[in-house]
Amino acid sequence: MLQAAGDAAIQWDMIVIGGGATGLGVALDAAARGYRTLLLEQGDFAEGTSSRSTKLIHGGVRYLRNGELGLVRDSLRERGRLLRNAPHLVRPLAFVVPGYRWYEPFYYGAGLTAYDWLSGRLGIGRTRPLSHGGVVERIPNLRRAGLRGGTLYWDGQFDDARLAIALAKTAAARGATVLNHAPVVELIKESGRVTGVLARDRLGGVEIRARGRVVVNATGVFADGVRRLDDPASESVIEPSQGIHLVLDAGFLGGDTAVMIPKTDDGRVLFAIPWHGRLVVGTTDTDGVPVSTDPRPLEAEIDYLIAHVGRYLERVPTRADVKATFAGLRPLVRPKSAAAATKSISRDHSLFVSDSGLVTITGGKWTTYRKMAEDTVDRAAAVGGLPMQPCLTGDLTLLDRNPGEALAAENPDWRERLDPELPWTVADAVAAVRDEMAATVDDVLARRTRVAFLDEAAARRCEPRVAEILRREV
Ligand SMILES: Cc1cc2nc3c(=O)[nH]c(=O)nc-3n(C[C@H](O)[C@H](O)[C@H](O)COP(=O)(O)OP(=O)(O)OC[C@H]3O[C@@H](n4cnc5c(N)ncnc54)[C@H](O)[C@@H]3O)c2cc1C
Repeated sequence: MLQAAGDAAIQWDMIVIGGGATGLGVALDAAARGYRTLLLEQGDFAEGTSSRSTKLIHGGVRYLRNGELGLVRDSLRERGRLLRNAPHLVRPLAFVVPGYRWYEPFYYGAGLTAYDWLSGRLGIGRTRPLSHGGVVERIPNLRRAGLRGGTLYWDGQFDDARLAIALAKTAAARGATVLNHAPVVELIKESGRVTGVLARDRLGGVEIRARGRVVVNATGVFADGVRRLDDPASESVIEPSQGIHLVLDAGFLGGDTAVMIPKTDDGRVLFAIPWHGRLVVGTTDTDGVPVSTDPRPLEAEIDYLIAHVGRYLERVPTRADVKATFAGLRPLVRPKSAAAATKSISRDHSLFVSDSGLVTITGGKWTTYRKMAEDTVDRAAAVGGLPMQPCLTGDLTLLDRNPGEALAAENPDWRERLDPELPWTVADAVAAVRDEMAATVDDVLARRTRVAFLDEAAARRCEPRVAEILRREV
């Protein structure tokens, strides 16, 4: 990848800056259409927001409440496609909305039936009412006092960083060059047009100068910074909003059904979701946080989540029960009205084309990455004067091979787990380095396996072992 990226003889059709859900989706779409595509990511694939989501492929029940029917319908269509095109990475998950007020089971039952209805043929399970006993059977640790029943509905769940790696691999299989640990530091301009990028290989120190017919800025919350490389006076379009999650033992719900609280006291949505044998609780919506490559949860956000989830549980978690936390920054598009709170800003995506032809795509959701990519490549192809080709990703299957399994079959010693409490093996770590471009301990522990997201103490214990594997393999 490094060699191809640095080959000055290549004239790329499309250069994509940013290797999160959006950039990887664009690179795959462009490569599938036959465009010569280069993607450059400053850190690791999905190191930004795209590994820090709530892990839901969903229409967004909350957006239904906001009346964003178009966004919900498009998202549900994409959910259906993802379940079909990546069944190894996205799965249907049952959710319960508990009702503690007499009208809640009716109110949420009606809303969630509309949600089913909007998904049409791509629905994944029928919404139905649950009795008090039915709720408790599915969520044994849910608070029972005052529980009147609930509503069961279905949505999609996934492993965000793994889906990103699958996109990178599928794009590469379609001929794209995708390179991680290579920040773009400058845009090359000729006669007022953006004609390429200057990037640096962070690991080897090599400078990469790449020329392209069109450059796409898919850098999430960093999009304003890249736009200013093009035009220092360009106005800011991003309004970042931080969301954090806590990871607890799965026993804090019991069972494998998720819980959705549609409206906490301050009007937010709260999820508690079983994931990789643990429980993920989130999220928050905090504006005014600085843009950073490694955002950290604020103490107040952790306290808020512990307090709020505790209100709905019999056995209540404390700070000592938190196995891990993670924070992500939503790349929301700044609304025209400066007064809007970030939780009310639309999750729809926006495209901007600068006078010099830099195409910026931002906003959106993981769930809609494919549609965002389709819209972006259509627009970028026109800006770059590329021959129009139809989008092919609607039913393109994403690669699913788990290289760890094959390696474990060859080397029984590598079946040993990295940590006794988590599913990943030595073979998974070796495969991450050999087949999945993992180049640092963090790449392996945070995004090829998800150890660091699930258990910070376990990740620290695994570090020397993974470092040793990297030393041997790289
Ligand atoms: C708390 C939270 C929960 C969420 N939950 C969900 C959910 O459950 N379902 C859902 O559908 N969506 C969810 N989202 C939204 C979703 O995660 C984001 O919309 C999506 O991940 C954004 O992807 P992106 O590629 O635009 O940004 P990012 O993932 O941030 O990718 C941008 C990339 O650009 C790179 N970059 C920046 N500058 C440069 C440069 N100069 N050179 C090279 N690379 C550069 C960054 O390193 C980064 O990797 C959630 C978001 C948050 C914050």
